[in-house]
Amino acid sequence: MVSKESGRSETMLKGIGVSPGIVVGPARVLLPDATRVSSRSIGGEDVAHERERFRVALRETRAQLLHIRKQVSEVLDEEHARIFDAHMLVVEDELLVGEVEQAIEQERLNVEPLLQRIAMQYADKLAGLEDQYLAERAVDIRDVTRRLLANLAEETVESLRDIEAPCVLVSNDLLPSDTAGLDREKVKAFITDLGSASSHTAIMARALNVPAVVGLRSATAAVHPDDRVLVDGARGVVFVCPSEERLAEYAERSRNQAEIRQELDLLRDKPPETLDGYHVPLTANIELLEELEGVDAGGAKGIGLYRTEFLFLGAKTLPGEEAQVEAYVQAAQSQFPAPVVIRTLDLGADKMPDALKGRREMNPFLGHRAIRLCLGRPALFRTQLRAILRASVHENVRLMYPMVTGVAEVKAANALLQECMDELTEEGVAFNREIEVGTMIEVPSAALVADKIAPHVSFFSLGTNDLIQYTMAVDRGNEDVAHLYQPTNLAVIRLIDHVVKICRRFGLWSSVCGQMASSPHLVPLLVGLGVDELSVSPLQAPVIKDVIRKLYYADAVALAQRALISDTPEEVEAHCVNMIVDVAPEVLALTE
Ligand code: PEP
Ligand code: MG
Repeated sequence: MVSKESGRSETMLKGIGVSPGIVVGPARVLLPDATRVSSRSIGGEDVAHERERFRVALRETRAQLLHIRKQVSEVLDEEHARIFDAHMLVVEDELLVGEVEQAIEQERLNVEPLLQRIAMQYADKLAGLEDQYLAERAVDIRDVTRRLLANLAEETVESLRDIEAPCVLVSNDLLPSDTAGLDREKVKAFITDLGSASSHTAIMARALNVPAVVGLRSATAAVHPDDRVLVDGARGVVFVCPSEERLAEYAERSRNQAEIRQELDLLRDKPPETLDGYHVPLTANIELLEELEGVDAGGAKGIGLYRTEFLFLGAKTLPGEEAQVEAYVQAAQSQFPAPVVIRTLDLGADKMPDALKGRREMNPFLGHRAIRLCLGRPALFRTQLRAILRASVHENVRLMYPMVTGVAEVKAANALLQECMDELTEEGVAFNREIEVGTMIEVPSAALVADKIAPHVSFFSLGTNDLIQYTMAVDRGNEDVAHLYQPTNLAVIRLIDHVVKICRRFGLWSSVCGQMASSPHLVPLLVGLGVDELSVSPLQAPVIKDVIRKLYYADAVALAQRALISDTPEEVEAHCVNMIVDVAPEVLALTE
């Protein structure tokens, strides 16, 4: 099929749909502008680090080029794919790489300006040659240099600010903080080469209600600036230069989905209760205060997870105690008397504000993140604990620690909390001494020693996004291993089952706040496993409520029992999907 507008044939790209919605718009392709590279002096001790950064960028670029080559050979043909062989030669050019490394040593500058200068010298020399073939290699060098600089760049904020008109943003990757700063009036949808469903960028896209497809691998290569692009965020597909037939098909699909959503909106004030009267409290996950309005509109009651780190990621300077109190009080007041679970900072890994950036970590998701970072920076942590305590004069405020691995961290955090309570008492500042404190269970070690942690807290919230990542040893943000990211893996189901049983034994409240709770077909499984509460993205609340209300609790329990003796994740997945087909098929029309 051919697009009427551009005359080019329609191309379909398949990725991972992370935020639903159908959008058609002109593409704005973002690759960092090579002219913006900044130069900084480095000490002799930093030379090795700078060379390592360069080598990592070379490896990343090479891997991306291999992906694109494969994709182009599948979608187009071998002849077009060979263009990327030429690109690969640039990354492997020992002369160029050696010259850059030598320049780092001799000139004591960061790699970016040196790479840019040396690569451009090569390109200019080639461009001036008579030989047509060699002259064309100059284009390859410029292109690959841009990609290398993109991989070296730690932020794209500068270029994101340049977006002037409504568009579909196309980029290699976006950081959660980039996404948090997107202008929703301008960026109607975004699509990226990298990323996966439970990455923080995906979470941000859902929070902002910006349709998004990630993990497309070759979007930046396949989409040209100003191409018309159709994004289907639920199905995870993108059509570049869509045909008239495609546009008509999607207009129809869009109308149909809007009708279903309207029906589901009628559930807003209905209880989240199964057909046989089993109540499953439905709360919301929020990242930004702007989402509070959507919590009421979607029919969730209370906040099961307030990801406070986004207060830090979006800001130019770190918010102090007063600014935090203001934010937490606003959240608490908006939901009163329903509970608001304020999670202490889960900074680190892909969520690190510039002001806290330290040494580069080789495995940041296994590194200085969340409770570890907070316990390592007591001043930062105390400020937040004091702010949460002060907000707890609104008695619906609860406090929760992220990424706990065992009882020692909980005891250390509780000791600091106690010190903050003593301080506030001395200062005569009011707070709720009986504030409920809980932990996330998102690391297998914490799940396995849940009985040891239980006496120190009053609730557990299962963070399945990380629990799956750490149980399966699968990077939640890496599209190459996305197929191994299996919520229905028996190892994951057993851990959830174990934690729920511990909660029952110790009289603790259990909830799930990971993406599993927002996935309609996994809801019966979680309910059947006995999870007390589901905390979901606000927009998804009507869909999840619909599923709960069409379910028999007894059937959910039978499904969970079956899952616990199943052999494969595929088998469990199939049972879960079948149940949705039976009880709430309208939900599938929103995703298929
Ligand atoms: C989780 O890990 O499931 C979770 C809810 O926390 P986050 O997604 O913020 O890491
Ligand atoms: Mg987590």
